[in-house]
Amino acid sequence: MSEREQELRSGLARVEERIVRACGAAGRAREDVTLVVVTKTYPVEDVRLLAGLGIRHFAENRDQEAAQKAAACADLSLNWHFVGQLQTNKVRSVAGYADYVHSVDRLRLVGALSSAVAAAGRPPLRVLVQVALEKESGQGAGRGGVAPEGVEELAHAVADAPGLELAGLMTVAPLSGAYAGRPAYAFERLWEISRDLRATHPAATMVSAGMSADLEEAIGAGATHVRVGSAVLGVRPALG
Ligand SMILES: *Cc1c(COP(=O)(O)O)cnc(C)c1O
Repeated sequence: MSEREQELRSGLARVEERIVRACGAAGRAREDVTLVVVTKTYPVEDVRLLAGLGIRHFAENRDQEAAQKAAACADLSLNWHFVGQLQTNKVRSVAGYADYVHSVDRLRLVGALSSAVAAAGRPPLRVLVQVALEKESGQGAGRGGVAPEGVEELAHAVADAPGLELAGLMTVAPLSGAYAGRPAYAFERLWEISRDLRATHPAATMVSAGMSADLEEAIGAGATHVRVGSAVLGVRPALG
């Protein structure tokens, strides 16, 4: 086994142990939580090694890098999750390889994704609405994501769009506002928003929350998918 494979194997083992412990603490079954490994900035060789170690769900946040990795691993039948901020001019490309898009945060993207799926003649794309908890009650600017007040409208639009399946909600623990430094509180709020959404859209069961630093808090608050990068692959070099 190569040195890198050994590193990835121990990274995965540590993360798996954390997930098992968090599920136990929350009284949840391990199978209720899917580990999505975020391979951004790491080479496709790492994706292949991780696939060999049993990982099936991979996430990327930049279209160009994601497209290259998905194409290079087309023989492996992996699930690709797009988790980065999405520009409308990238939608056609993303619809070419992604199985899930976690970062839909505006109506324009819904129409664009729907047309792209139709043009690609591919199976339905699973879409999650990204919630920016820092924008609650008109507060905060922040990065991607729709304010909690806007979730319902956007989710209905996704559910009505041909070629798209409303899969659930995603969030990143806020760095500003009332939830800053309080990931457990943020993830509990996401779960409440998800519960309200499931009252009208029962199939929208995915709750994508939790990264390397806060996967325990996310699992404790009901996350179904954790997106973990550095705890598996190592700390990423700062982007130029
Ligand atoms: C990079 C990234 C992750 C993984 O972050 P780590 O801290 O490396 O685990 C999760 N979600 C999104 C949206 C990301 O961009």
